[in-house]
Amino acid sequence: MTQMYADIILPFPLDTPFTYSIPASLVQSVVPGTRVEVSFRNKVYTGVVVAIHDKAPATYKVKSILSVPDEYPLVDSSQLNLWKWMADYYLCTMGEVFNAAVPAFFKLGSETIITEKPDSTVNDQDLDDKEFLIKEALSLQHELSVQDIRQILGQNTVQPILKRLLTKGVIAIREEIKGGYKPRVVKQLKLGSLYREEEALQAVFETLNKAVKQQHALMVYYQLAPDFQPVNKAMLLRKAAVSPAVIKAMLDKGIFEEVELEVSRILKSDTRKAEKSMLTSPQLEALDSTLKQLQQKEVVLLHGVTGSGKTEIYLELMESIVREGKQVLYLLPEIALTAQIIHRLKERFGAIAGVYHSKFNHSERIEIWQAVKEKKYQVILGARSALLLPFADLGLVIVDEEHDYSFKQQDPAPRYHARDTAIYLARSAGAKTILGTATPSVESYFNARSGKYGYVELTERYAGMQMPDTQLVDMKQRNGKKKELHFTNDLLENIQRAKEQHQQVILFQNRRGYSPYIVCSQCGWSPQCANCDVHMVYHKAKDELRCHYCGFRQDTYHECPACSSTQLLIQGFGTEKVEDELQLQFPDLKIARLDMDAVKTKTGHERIIQDFEEGLVDVLVGTQMVTKGLDFDNVSLVGILSADQLLNFPDFRASERGYQLMMQVSGRAGRKHRQGKVLIQATNTRHPVLQYIIQHDRHAFYAEELEQRKKFLYPPFVRLIQITLKHKFQDRSLNAGYAFVQALGRIAGCEILGPVTPGIARIRGKYRSEILIKATTGALKTIKQKIRSSRKSTLSIKQFQSVEIVVDVDPV
Ligand SMILES: [Zn+2]
Ligand SMILES: [Zn+2]
Repeated sequence: MTQMYADIILPFPLDTPFTYSIPASLVQSVVPGTRVEVSFRNKVYTGVVVAIHDKAPATYKVKSILSVPDEYPLVDSSQLNLWKWMADYYLCTMGEVFNAAVPAFFKLGSETIITEKPDSTVNDQDLDDKEFLIKEALSLQHELSVQDIRQILGQNTVQPILKRLLTKGVIAIREEIKGGYKPRVVKQLKLGSLYREEEALQAVFETLNKAVKQQHALMVYYQLAPDFQPVNKAMLLRKAAVSPAVIKAMLDKGIFEEVELEVSRILKSDTRKAEKSMLTSPQLEALDSTLKQLQQKEVVLLHGVTGSGKTEIYLELMESIVREGKQVLYLLPEIALTAQIIHRLKERFGAIAGVYHSKFNHSERIEIWQAVKEKKYQVILGARSALLLPFADLGLVIVDEEHDYSFKQQDPAPRYHARDTAIYLARSAGAKTILGTATPSVESYFNARSGKYGYVELTERYAGMQMPDTQLVDMKQRNGKKKELHFTNDLLENIQRAKEQHQQVILFQNRRGYSPYIVCSQCGWSPQCANCDVHMVYHKAKDELRCHYCGFRQDTYHECPACSSTQLLIQGFGTEKVEDELQLQFPDLKIARLDMDAVKTKTGHERIIQDFEEGLVDVLVGTQMVTKGLDFDNVSLVGILSADQLLNFPDFRASERGYQLMMQVSGRAGRKHRQGKVLIQATNTRHPVLQYIIQHDRHAFYAEELEQRKKFLYPPFVRLIQITLKHKFQDRSLNAGYAFVQALGRIAGCEILGPVTPGIARIRGKYRSEILIKATTGALKTIKQKIRSSRKSTLSIKQFQSVEIVVDVDPV
């Protein structure tokens, strides 16, 4: 019999797969996609077979595959094909894609650490001898490597046993111990147990004659829940238009009791399929048009203004795919914002809808992986990495908020864009893609308008809601003492009015911390990070300076270390300062902050959002976190504090990004039957982007932006590839850049810019030099090959061996 060989990828950045021989006993079970255990540099790792052949490698002595842990292949040829495409397109290795795609448990190596799960409730009788042995060993030593477990059991194949222990909740893989996913909790109110009889209720009504607001709240509760079932607290606050203090008084008296309901529990108990909500006629037209265009086009862009009800259209489309027996992938930029949508998917599709994201633990991820593979899940909602699940029969991909930059993975490789990868995935599965957003990326808009994609527009807000009234406010109107304040009179008056009318406000300032610069007024000295060439940002809450690039912290200065002056000026402003200034203006206003610092230090994102939803907070101040897909129904005012800062930075995407952020945050203003208001503070009120925003003229914005991109050669008219070379010595990084450019040579259809030292030369102690390549589509293949070979040749030069080279295709 001919000796057969398998090419195997391992979960690290090796340029090519490694070849191993297949022992005769395993020939039957080794096919492309099979997981295998192999020895590599004297350790055992898990890899995946990508090809089988009969050619022995010429350059190294071949080793044999040790074992096959599964009965079935982990992935099929379509996933392998996707991995290969990603590695080619994004100029990384198959190993890096494998690493990103597959849950940790499927990549166990000798050194992976297994720990005992502290809260395990499994009885010893439910474990077989070997499982029990491992549990015992772990209870003595707490941690064991996979290699230790092999030795304890005296056998090489331990993965099936570990998998059983993982599923039974006895063991964990070490990384997973860092915080898990917390289900969202919704506060509900129900009538106190003493009052659940008509007579008792009647009596309490009368005792409340002197507390009119409480009486009113009770009446509203009774209308909402004549059978005394629990009612959402936020809804009651709103419908009764009373303050949280009123409800608190009633809770203290025992009239109401508070119950907390996990959203996940709602999902489990609520398996009935909900009645379809009726589509409005603009929605029906959009659905119809989408279906028609999908017959001709692989991709359709659904461009619907904020609040136009795109989700209902997605649900209809999903349902038709599910009816055909196929699978739907629904991608969202951030999983933290999906609770509402998960609920609706579960209502509509019941048990065939699943969620996937990086906060799930290992056993949950394995479960989902299997369920997708076996088509138990037909609808999968997830962030970026969900597109790497092993779909068996994909029919539709929906990329919601397709413009969002978090669809692009920055670090580590693969630096892929989930939207573009999803389009490739769908196309190779013979499926269709829907891109949905109120503010398309310039690339997608161009593709849709030029006929490559279908295009459907939804210009009306759902159920007769009006578009917000958007106005510009000139920052120059501040005068005298007010000049130091970051609020104009207009904005302050509108906040006051919202407060009087018990409505909520969102204030957007895309910079966290208190103040980005501290400058000595005598000598101009300013504190810099020790590791990066950037100003330290002042954070008042902790009275310290922080670097937003590397996280470095230090005590703040009270006098200038250069000239000993105590006249240190605080310049610019971040969310902390907005919060501070506003509190000074309105001492009794309840203000919350939503930015990365607040999310880390307080009880997190969910809590802040929930307090705002429940009306416990009057004003929410935040960074771009407040712009993303949040629906609040009591926000009448949105204030954008500094439009100039959004629009004036040296990046060809500055206008696009500024436009998207401002339009998205504006979309949070307004509610049923009431037009919302948006105030944009700016110094340069004549900036064209601001004009398009106040006129709600989206097509004009895109037309102008496309003209600029065409003129200065930026996407979508060329493709960009950015190469960053990092080293602790500046000349080394720059010279490596020159060597790289020289190795690239000249390539037709490509413009090669650099190497240059970027605005921030040093980050985390490493100097950078950057090369930017603008390539026409026709030149892409050649330039990518050249980049691969130039990377190799540069790194083979002795003095550049320690240079880190990062290649980013389609950077955002
Ligand atoms: Zn000084
Ligand atoms: Zn730093």
